[in-house]
Amino acid sequence: MAKSVLNAPEFQSEEAAFAYVEARLWPEGPVCPHCGGVERISKMQGKSTRIGTYKCYQCRKPFTVKVGTVFEASHVPMRVWLQAMVLMCASKKGVSTNQLHRSLGVSLKTAWFMSHRIREAMRTVGMQPMGGAGKAVEADETYYGQVKGEPVRKGVGHKHVVVALVERGGGARSFHVEGTRIADLAPVINANIAKESALMTDEGTWYREIGRQFARHETVKHREDEYVRGDAHVNTAEGFFSIFKRGMKGVYQHCSEKHLHRYLAEFDFRYSNRIKLGVDDAERTARALKGIVGKRLTYRTTHN
Ligand SMILES: [Zn+2]
Repeated sequence: MAKSVLNAPEFQSEEAAFAYVEARLWPEGPVCPHCGGVERISKMQGKSTRIGTYKCYQCRKPFTVKVGTVFEASHVPMRVWLQAMVLMCASKKGVSTNQLHRSLGVSLKTAWFMSHRIREAMRTVGMQPMGGAGKAVEADETYYGQVKGEPVRKGVGHKHVVVALVERGGGARSFHVEGTRIADLAPVINANIAKESALMTDEGTWYREIGRQFARHETVKHREDEYVRGDAHVNTAEGFFSIFKRGMKGVYQHCSEKHLHRYLAEFDFRYSNRIKLGVDDAERTARALKGIVGKRLTYRTTHN
């Protein structure tokens, strides 16, 4: 039997966990997060020194690799953070707070905060547009959950609108938007898809004008039971939504509106770093780890 991925030393020993994170965040050696110095830095070795502490002799301040990352204000051991990351990166539909709490032996509250911080690490920033010449990007919308205060009616009027952009043979980006007016969708589509791409959508009237901006725009008429015509379809985007919905229903059991974009970032991340694109569980975790740097959490952290 293959060894469990959690047998690796970085999941077992705190020293090894720090070494693992340092090797990935500081490939050229430690960098002082206070002054940016790289030269006069020494590892603190005293018995009472916390693991992973360095001192910068340029600004005379101590630091660890956690400073300036989503792990910074937390007392959770580094090896437990890494365990949580590998669990969330390796499971296609996500891991519930309850499961993290039971698997890692942390409190429910801690598990909740850890999972949101890891989602933040998974959020990609400063992205290049998707697609490009000769590439196809599908845009599709789905309806999810229930808008607070909206009575449940027939149809989708009381649900949140989520739009997903999925490049064929590439990644996904999904967004919680106000509605399906051109004003809701155009900014998202224009900012994220290269104009040289072929845009694939359904017959939604809102896509008509938006589509003119792209090298090509193909639509399928779902209302007339047309799902594929030549290379025109949105089946890839629908596949993405199906993983998202199964995860939200089966694992997360819905979430509040405030956090919906965080869950979307999590599903985007796993989809964009999936095995079919050559990214295995270990590499996916390493990529999420690179994302812990420079993220500011906008929700309150006072419960922790
Ligand atoms: Zn310094």
